[in-house]
Amino acid sequence: MSTDDLTPRPTATDGPDAFDLVLRGARVLTAAGLAPAEVGVRDGAIAAVEPLGAGLRGRRVVELGADEVLLPGLVDTHVHVNEPGRTEWEGFASATRAAAAGGVTTILDMPLNSIPPTVTVDALETKRAVAGPQAFVDVGFWGGAVPGNDGDLTPLHEAGVFGFKCFLLPSGVDEFPPLDPPEMERDMDILAGLDSLLIVHAEDAETIDAAPQPHGAAYADFLASRPRDAENRAIRAVIEAARRTGARAHILHLSSSDALPEIAAARAEGVRLTVETCPHYLTLVAEDVPDGATAYKCCPPIREAGNRDALWAALQDGTIDCVVSDHSPATVDLKQPEGGDFGVAWGGVSSLQLGLSLVWTEARSRGVDLETVVAWMSSRPAAMARVPRKGSIAVGNDADLAVFGPEDTYEAHVAELHHKNPVSPYDGKGLTGRVRATYLRGEQIDLQRPTGRLITRAG
Ligand SMILES: [Zn+2]
Repeated sequence: MSTDDLTPRPTATDGPDAFDLVLRGARVLTAAGLAPAEVGVRDGAIAAVEPLGAGLRGRRVVELGADEVLLPGLVDTHVHVNEPGRTEWEGFASATRAAAAGGVTTILDMPLNSIPPTVTVDALETKRAVAGPQAFVDVGFWGGAVPGNDGDLTPLHEAGVFGFKCFLLPSGVDEFPPLDPPEMERDMDILAGLDSLLIVHAEDAETIDAAPQPHGAAYADFLASRPRDAENRAIRAVIEAARRTGARAHILHLSSSDALPEIAAARAEGVRLTVETCPHYLTLVAEDVPDGATAYKCCPPIREAGNRDALWAALQDGTIDCVVSDHSPATVDLKQPEGGDFGVAWGGVSSLQLGLSLVWTEARSRGVDLETVVAWMSSRPAAMARVPRKGSIAVGNDADLAVFGPEDTYEAHVAELHHKNPVSPYDGKGLTGRVRATYLRGEQIDLQRPTGRLITRAG
């Protein structure tokens, strides 16, 4: 961090009224926007936010450089950690190191791809026991809604999960089977009574079954196997069930822009629906995916350039609420099978460490400002999942912060990422904007010493 001159600059102090830490900068992003400010931290929480020049006294003082912006730590509500059971795909230590390096201070772990999946309280306790000692950022958990576990939903809710994930088609792992639409609606009914949230992988099984099966190295063939209509239909089913039950529902990883008008109409009518999309749908396009490049395979798929433009427009007009990673790695063998066969490769894109740089690089070329991008990746996902004390620089929140150099440029190299498996469609990509330091509860994160905590839903 630089120590460029900002005035005035009292030195660190030990007085009884001093904060544990004071950060000062010309560009601090609070709910009021980017402004010169001082942030005082006490006992791990933000205790004061004052205009620059207020002269807050701290035992430690960080003066931000003129080229640095202080951001709230990002909240990534869509991360597949896979531990225990598939720890060779990704684990809590590697995933949370990657998160910290990318300015993400809270992750919510998806209930599948680990063994056990998080579909019972016992399984949740197993995962918490594994995650706790090795988390470099805060970690919370989603529960899973699968056929036959409706009796587990209330106990999992009471144990602190942020909501429940379901699939409407096979998930890719046998131990996490999908719900059919009537089962989804019955679970929504239960969740409505709990004021919990159902988050849905919305692709329709019948539509996918009727589409050409994916095979071979041509990306166009893979894209044809996951038509937009599969998303459109499944999203319609989610909207109808949410309307009938009054439950809160959330569409995961929206790719098909065709669904946007129906989503907007449902929201206008009062259906309690939120929507996320991911960096890969906002930065990559089908036209540019090389044949055999299975690092780009994800479900739903990366679509055409016009679709990408429509997703950007929907973020800007508020139809899409937030941007989260859907970080879903696998081993190199599974992700990049011989011959580059899209039908065989594991689907999922790893971007936990790169998300802010990716979205910011594209956003600035589209004239979208940093405040807006950061809201999509911090306060919005925190609000969607009701993560307490996270997502904005505000008095009372945890002092989770990121120091960002918005004009820094670098090239992403997969071998330099903390992700466990070196596979990424972004390898070699030039990026603008880089996280220089990340703070968790007022302490700069040290990638050798895990200080993350396990968190539960508000209330
Ligand atoms: Zn996912």
